[in-house]
Amino acid sequence: MEERFFKFDVLSKFPEVIHGISSRNYRNMSFYRGDQEKIAKNREYFLNEVGISINNIVVPEIVHGSKIVVVKKADIGRGAKSAETDIKGVDGLVTKDAGVGLMATVADCFAILSYDPVCRAVGLTHAGWRGIEGGVVANLIEAMESIGCQKDNILFSVGPGICQKHFVVRNDVLDKFLRRYPQATFVRNKDGYVDLRKAILSDFKDNHISSHNIEISTICPACQNGIFGSYRMEGDRVPTSAAVIGLKNF
Ligand SMILES: [Zn+2]
Repeated sequence: MEERFFKFDVLSKFPEVIHGISSRNYRNMSFYRGDQEKIAKNREYFLNEVGISINNIVVPEIVHGSKIVVVKKADIGRGAKSAETDIKGVDGLVTKDAGVGLMATVADCFAILSYDPVCRAVGLTHAGWRGIEGGVVANLIEAMESIGCQKDNILFSVGPGICQKHFVVRNDVLDKFLRRYPQATFVRNKDGYVDLRKAILSDFKDNHISSHNIEISTICPACQNGIFGSYRMEGDRVPTSAAVIGLKNF
C-alpha cells in the first residue's frame, strides 16, 4: 500500500471522503492505557497523514455495546485528545456535517465505516462480538437512515478483524451465536469458534443491503500481527488501531 495506513478501495474513489485505519507503525491510539499525552501525539500524527486535524475528530466511548448516535459540527474535539470528553455509552457515530471526523479504536474488533454519496453522510462503528450480537450492524443502517440516507445508496466498508481460526469462544458466547448466526459458528476438538465476518455479512443480508455495497477486508490482526495490533496475541500491551472517516471541508 502506498500509504502506511489501511485504506478501502471503494472509499478511496471519493475525493470528498477522508478515511483510514492505522497500522501498528502508528503505535497505540487508545486512551485505555499508557501516557495520555503520547497517545494524543500518536493520534495527531496519524490523522495528519490521513488529512484531518485532531481538532475535528469526534470519538465514541466504546462500551462493547451497539448504540449509535448522530453527531454534529458542534461536537468536534470530543474524545480526540482525552477520553474524558468522548461520547459516552456508544460504540458508533454518524454525521451529515462536513469537517467532522468520526474515529473509533479497534484491536481484533472490526471497524465498520459507512458512506452515502447521495445524501453525503458518513458513519463509523466499533463492532466486537457483543456489539454484533446486540445488533450494531442494523443500528448503523438505521442511524444512517435517520439522517436522510437511503438504504440502497449506503456503502459499507468492514475493516481488518479477528478471523474465525483465532476466535475461540466460551460456551455461552458460542450458544448466543448458534442461535442467531448458526452458519458463523464452528466446533473443532470440542472448542467453539465464531466467524464474526460471516455474522456481519449475515446482518447486512438480513437488512437487505446489497453485497455490491459492501467491501470487507480479509486481514486478521492475529494472522498478520506484524501489520496490526491484536488484543488476542498481545493482551493489554496491544497497540490499538484507530479507524477514521469524514467528509472534507475542513
Ligand atoms: Zn487470524
